[in-house]
Amino acid sequence: AISREDLLAKMAEQMSKKRLEHSLGVEAAAIRLAKRYGADETKAGLAGLLHDYAKEVSDEDFLALIDKYQLDSDLKNWGNNIWHGVVGIYKIKEDLELSDAEILHSIETHTVGSKEMSLLDKIIYVADYIEDGRDFPGVGEAREIATSSLDRAVAYETARTVAFLAQKAHPIYPQTIETYNAYISYLK
Ligand code: GDP
Ligand code: FE
Ligand code: FE
Repeated sequence: AISREDLLAKMAEQMSKKRLEHSLGVEAAAIRLAKRYGADETKAGLAGLLHDYAKEVSDEDFLALIDKYQLDSDLKNWGNNIWHGVVGIYKIKEDLELSDAEILHSIETHTVGSKEMSLLDKIIYVADYIEDGRDFPGVGEAREIATSSLDRAVAYETARTVAFLAQKAHPIYPQTIETYNAYISYLK
């Protein structure tokens, strides 16, 4: 398997310094959450580090990957925000020697979640939202909630994201709505 050092060098080639710093922040937050909730810290760190690996892939390349791997053609109606996770895992599989299904699934769902998230999926979804470099309304409350309930943190984050997207009149990916419906009761 590829070393963390080699991975960082490869990442530095494909993304801005700012995104690399965000990736390191998510790695650290994921390791903290893995310790807190009893998940595999190595897997959490690696998934956190790599979650946005494909964020700077071009639209053209994503559309080619959707064709190449015969993914649901509805994906073509979406954009980078959805593609970098859902399609990004195919770029990761092509570029890196990474075949761990749990890690790849957590990266696949890191933006939109899913109705049945594994412990690692929840950790990456939440770590992305609360890493130390994040600064937006609600992040303090999200960090607080994440110390006591991962399910509640997923619910809080999803509710905030759906509200934000609706307020901006952005389309909401169906899987985001499924995540919302599956987890919202934890906020009650
Ligand atoms: P980042 O990659 O670290 O910036 O974070 P994410 O991968 O979680 O999210 C990337 C972007 O996708 C953010 O601007 C989210 O608001 C946006 N996003 C999340 N869910 C959806 C969705 O269902 N539909 C759309 N259009 N955008 C979404
Ligand atoms: Fe992302
Ligand atoms: Fe991210």
